[in-house]
Amino acid sequence: MPERVTVIGGGPAGSLAALAALDAGAPVQIFEKSRLPRHKVCGEFLSPEAGPLFARFGLLPGFLELRPARVTEARIRLGRTTKSWRLKHPAFGISRYALDRWLLDQAIARGAELIPEPAGGMHERTVVAHGRRGCAPKGSRLFGFKAHFAGVPNDRIELLFAPGLYIGINRIEGGVINVCGLVAESLFKSFGFDPEKLTGAHFAGEMPAGERVLDWLITGPLVHGPAFEQTDGPLTYRAGDALGFIDPFTGSGMLDAMCTGALAGRAAAFGSAPSAYARDCRRMLANQYRAAAVLRKSIANGMAGLLAPFVPGRALFQVTRPSI
Ligand SMILES: Cc1cc2nc3c(=O)[nH]c(=O)nc-3n(C[C@H](O)[C@H](O)[C@H](O)COP(=O)(O)OP(=O)(O)OC[C@H]3O[C@@H](n4cnc5c(N)ncnc54)[C@H](O)[C@@H]3O)c2cc1C
Repeated sequence: MPERVTVIGGGPAGSLAALAALDAGAPVQIFEKSRLPRHKVCGEFLSPEAGPLFARFGLLPGFLELRPARVTEARIRLGRTTKSWRLKHPAFGISRYALDRWLLDQAIARGAELIPEPAGGMHERTVVAHGRRGCAPKGSRLFGFKAHFAGVPNDRIELLFAPGLYIGINRIEGGVINVCGLVAESLFKSFGFDPEKLTGAHFAGEMPAGERVLDWLITGPLVHGPAFEQTDGPLTYRAGDALGFIDPFTGSGMLDAMCTGALAGRAAAFGSAPSAYARDCRRMLANQYRAAAVLRKSIANGMAGLLAPFVPGRALFQVTRPSI
């Protein structure tokens, strides 16, 4: 029987790691320092590929019972250019409040032991899924923010860009609308770190008309980029944001987290070489990270707005997905 796997963090990466390790026959312990459910800064746009991934673990019917919103269209506004297209497969709008608790419950129901406290020290066969780490110099940092609104929902994810700032707007379960954004520190500071004032000044006509039903949440600082090398310990496997943080405009962070989590859980259960696991992650994520970095730079220097009319929306969407 495979040896016990310890998972640090019960977010999407940690829960999928636990499920994959349990599938491989290993006993699993999950350390989670927060009490779930809890709200979390996130666009709450779950990429369509999550459906087949859940199906692989026998989770799709249960997930659909959460009544996620179906997202069938995308609209991007970059400078004066607006681009809309239908998604090839519907994506999901689901709150982190519902999704994270539900995923963790699935792992517990299949036999994972939850230790509701921060992990202390490293264990043999550990999946590190504790989310983002990393720092940037003060002044050049990025911050994320989000809130939920009542309003007239549609089936669209909208991404609106302004210099130093973007927001995503989409529906989640219960007809609620999520507004989530990313902003450069200097710009945020000029609005007193107040998302209401910031979004009011830049996107007044685009914000949901209904009342705000969740206080603004803020997170940061955020640092983009992958860290595919595994340096923590002999049988330690980093997954999710602990492995790399993809630009939120891709709407792919949760998918990446669950895919790498599933790989990591299996690798830990079988005691595979962390270097082989890292190679698999690189194969899955490297192109996507490259594409996201090119897009980020071309958005910042204005090229993206000029080129957008000539690039099919579906192609843009595809290059910012992991290779799975
Ligand atoms: C502004 C913004 C918008 C985003 N929008 C989207 C989007 O629309 N779609 C999308 O797919 N992705 C989006 N993302 C990315 C997405 O939120 C992350 O990629 C995803 O949360 C990563 O999951 P994870 O499990 O790796 O980490 P997390 O979700 O961060 O989970 C880590 C867990 O570990 C726990 N933990 C931390 N330290 C310890 C410890 N020492 N011991 C025990 N537990 C610990 C934490 O409490 C947490 O529950 C967005 C991110 C940001 C910042």
